[in-house]
Amino acid sequence: MSSDLIYNLKHTRPLIIAGPCSIESREQLFSTARALQEIKQVQALRVGVWKPRTQPGMFEGLGEEALLWLRELKQEFALPILTEVANREQAEMALDAGLDGLWIGARTSVNPFALEPLFATIATRNSQLPVFIKNPLAADLQLWIGAVLRAKKAGLQNLALIYRGVACYPKYANLRAEPNWDLALEMRVNFPDLPMLLDPSHMAGKCELLLPLIFASKNYQLDGLIIESHIDPKQALTDKAQQVSPTQLTELLDYYLHENSSVVEKAMLENYRLLIDVLDQRLADILAQRMQIVEQIAQIKKRQNIPLLQEKRYAQIREKWHTYAEGKNMDLDFFQALFELIHQESLQRQAGLTHNYSVIIKGQNL
Ligand code: PEP
Ligand code: MN
Repeated sequence: MSSDLIYNLKHTRPLIIAGPCSIESREQLFSTARALQEIKQVQALRVGVWKPRTQPGMFEGLGEEALLWLRELKQEFALPILTEVANREQAEMALDAGLDGLWIGARTSVNPFALEPLFATIATRNSQLPVFIKNPLAADLQLWIGAVLRAKKAGLQNLALIYRGVACYPKYANLRAEPNWDLALEMRVNFPDLPMLLDPSHMAGKCELLLPLIFASKNYQLDGLIIESHIDPKQALTDKAQQVSPTQLTELLDYYLHENSSVVEKAMLENYRLLIDVLDQRLADILAQRMQIVEQIAQIKKRQNIPLLQEKRYAQIREKWHTYAEGKNMDLDFFQALFELIHQESLQRQAGLTHNYSVIIKGQNL
């Protein structure tokens, strides 16, 4: 079965992996797996055996008990099965249970100390085993690259990548993780031969937001999806809001795999709106940050008795905006007007903070 997964890694596009966030009971595992096996586009099952929870006291997976059910499931189940491992003991147990592939979660791929013994253990047992490496929670390309280099150094031969977005504060556009597609694209440039799947579930955090992300990943030419699906999401013990039922998954995959229909176009519209929301929020954050810095500058100017409007500095920034506009192929007048607006607001804020000052803004004495 792991040979099917190796074949699919190399040849099947899109590669679709689906399954529950966590194994919660024998019944939930078997009914979910059987339903997913009926979906013809699904090539492998993902299951959570050990769950890295953000806060203590939450359901942390069933561990060895779940592995016993997986051994039993494997007797009847045609698809390869993958799980997440975070240390060498878990890797040994998962391999003893005959699982066909492993993934390294975002809380583990961030940690070189954890990765070295883990990769060494897997490589000693089976260097051909498919191992998927998720991007670390932190938006750090070098850490993700480092995780792959460590896996290669350990001798693992069948690697793949999973992009799941990065942790951010505050949240962008209601998403659980920020899409930051540039990070995924940069990683592709570094490892063009490694397949990269999107994990839209942990990026979205909510079923309603999955579709736009799935379409975005298609636009960015990622190689497939690893998506959470539960036989009865409302009853799920972990990640309830983001797990889709097998029926919902079938619908999502129908959209994902169809080209050029008006349904797809409408879904794309949603995708673009979502991206606009992300960018607008970022614009607002950046402007607010700029104004905070402007206020710090105002305090210094006041203490040091420096006039608010510095003609030379103003001309320099104006020139830089001109260069930015040219470099990004943006309308020069639009960028000029935007700059004037931002600069004027900055001066007004400074004048407000340093009210004993007089400052010339657009010919007016404030
Ligand atoms: C998971 O895939 O179940 C998971 C915990 O994801 P991540 O490591 O991306 O948070
Ligand atoms: Mn999950």
